[in-house]
Amino acid sequence: MNQYDYIIVGSGIAGLYTALLAQEQGNVLIITKGSIDDCNTRHAQGGIAAAIGKNDSPELHFHDTIAAGDGLCDEEAVRILVNEAPDRITDLVNFGVPFDTVDGGIALTREAAHSIPRILHAGGDATGEHIEVTLSRWVSASKIQVLEDCLATEILIEKGRVSGIKALDCHTGSIEKFGCNCLILATGGGGQLFKLNTNSDIATGDGIALAFSVGAEIVDTEFFQFHPTALRLPGVAPFLISEAVRGEGGVLRNAEGRRFMPDYVPEGDLAPRDVVARSTLYEMEKTGSDRVFLDVTHLSPSVITTRFPHIYRFCLDHGLDITKGLIPVAPAAHYMMGGIKTNSWGETNIDGLFATGEIACTGVHGANRLASNSMLEVLVFSKRIMERTGKGASAEAPTISKRAEVHHSPSRRRAPKAVPAPNLSALQQLLWDKVGIIRNKKSLSEAAGILAAWQKALPQPTDRPSYELNNLVLTGRLMTEAALLREESRGAHFRSDFPKNSPLWQQHIVFTSKKRG
Ligand SMILES: Cc1cc2nc3c(=O)[nH]c(=O)nc-3n(C[C@H](O)[C@H](O)[C@H](O)COP(=O)(O)OP(=O)(O)OC[C@H]3O[C@@H](n4cnc5c(N)ncnc54)[C@H](O)[C@@H]3O)c2cc1C
Repeated sequence: MNQYDYIIVGSGIAGLYTALLAQEQGNVLIITKGSIDDCNTRHAQGGIAAAIGKNDSPELHFHDTIAAGDGLCDEEAVRILVNEAPDRITDLVNFGVPFDTVDGGIALTREAAHSIPRILHAGGDATGEHIEVTLSRWVSASKIQVLEDCLATEILIEKGRVSGIKALDCHTGSIEKFGCNCLILATGGGGQLFKLNTNSDIATGDGIALAFSVGAEIVDTEFFQFHPTALRLPGVAPFLISEAVRGEGGVLRNAEGRRFMPDYVPEGDLAPRDVVARSTLYEMEKTGSDRVFLDVTHLSPSVITTRFPHIYRFCLDHGLDITKGLIPVAPAAHYMMGGIKTNSWGETNIDGLFATGEIACTGVHGANRLASNSMLEVLVFSKRIMERTGKGASAEAPTISKRAEVHHSPSRRRAPKAVPAPNLSALQQLLWDKVGIIRNKKSLSEAAGILAAWQKALPQPTDRPSYELNNLVLTGRLMTEAALLREESRGAHFRSDFPKNSPLWQQHIVFTSKKRG
C-alpha cells in the first residue's frame, strides 16, 4: 500500500488549494472521482467576499455574516473568517487568479445581505472557473500526485486513528488502498439531493457518508440553501443567475409583471436568499405560475455584457437576449450549510481526519450562508489545517469553541406501506417535494420513512452511481431527521407548522453513528 503524508479527496477549490499548501509539508495524493475540474467550484459565478474595500472592515463583514446565520453562527469561527480573509485573497492573487479591476484596484460588487460592496470577481461572472483553472495548473506543474476517476469509498481506521482510504478505480472497478498520516475530505456539497439544483453531478454528499460511517460528527444537516434565481427554461437544467445580477440593480417581477420583493421585506430584492426564495414561491403560487422573472432590461447593455458575459452568453445560446427580455427564474437547491463538524483548525472528532470546503461545517454559516462566503471559508480554514499539521505545529489540543448542541442517531422508522424503488430521480423528487423550501411534520415524516426503507433495501454498491445513490440516501436521511427534530423556522430551514424561531432551538443538531472510529 502506497503511503502519503496527506491524502486529499476532491479537486475543487478546497482540494487544490489545500494540496498546494500541503506539498510544502510532505508528499500529497489527490483522489478525485471525475476529471480534475469536475466540481462545483468551476460553476461559481458571483465571487469571493472579503473586507478589502475603502469603507469596509472585518467588523462589518462579521456583522453581516452573523445576521445572515440567524443565531447559529460560531462567532469565533466567523471572527477568524473575516480577519484572515484579506491575507487569503492575497494568496489567490499570488497564485495568479485574475480578479477584475477598476481604476487600478480590485473591483468590488455587492450581493444580497452584504451591507457594502465587498465581492471580488474574475472574468465578470466566471470567478470559479478562473480559480479552478489557475489552481489546477499549479497542481499539474507540481509533484502532487492526482488520481482522476477514483472514488473514495471507505475511510480506514487503525487503533482509533485514520490510517488511509479505500478507493474505487472507476475504469477497472477494482478497489485499492492508500495509506496516509492526514486524510482531508474536500468532497463538496450535496445539491444532487434535489430535483431542481444548481450543482454539478459530483455533489452527492459522499464526504458525509464516508465520515459518518467511521463515527465522525455530522451537524446542521437541516440547513440547505435554496437560491432564488435559477434559470427556468423548458428542457434546460437550472442554470444559476448570480445574485450579483440583483446586486447590480436587477429586480424580480411576478408572472403578472409586478415587482413583489418590496411587499415582503424592506431590503426588497437584496434580502437574504431564504427570504427571497420563499417570497418567490408564494408569488408563484399566487399567480399559478412555475416561475417569476428577473428584469435587467433597465440596465445598460454594456454593463450586462461586461459584468455577466457568461450568463448573457448562456441565455443567448438558449434563445433569450437578457438585455431586451425578462429572465424566467425559480428557486433551486444550491448550497449545503451543514456537514462534517470541524473545529477552527479543520479537525473532526476522529484523529487524523480533517474536512474543508462545502462538506465541512466550521460554523461560519450558521442557519444561512451569506453570499460569497463559501469559497472564502475554504481558503481560510484550509490554511489553518496546514498550520495545525505542519512541522512547527503545537502538539497541544486546540481550543474548541463550545457550540450548544443536541446529539442524536437517526431514529428507527417503520417503513410506509408503499415504497417506490430507490433510484436517483425518485430520491430527488422525494426530497424536492417533502424536504424542500417549505417543510412540515407530515411531509418530513413521510420522507423519513421512505429514506429509512431505501437505506435498508439498497444493495451493496459496486460502481460510481451505486455508491453515490447510497451516499445521497444517507445524507438525505440525516437532513430529513434533523428537519423533523427542529420544530421551528430559522434561516434556510422553514417549517409551515412552526413558522417562528424559538430560543429553545438556538442549538445545533449533531448526528453520529454508533460506530466510533
Ligand atoms: C452554480 C454555483 C455558483 C456558486 N457561486 C458561488 C460564488 O459566487 N461564491 C462562493 O463563495 N460560492 C459559490 N458557490 C458555492 C461554491 O462554489 C462551493 O461551495 C465551493 O466551490 C465548494 O468547493 P469544494 O472544493 O468544497 O467542492 P467542489 O468544488 O464541489 O469539489 C468537490 C470535489 O470532490 C470530488 N469528490 C466528491 N466525492 C468524492 C469521492 N467520493 N471520491 C473522490 N472525489 C470525490 C469531486 O469530484 C470534486 O472534485 C456556487 C456554487 C454553485 C453550484
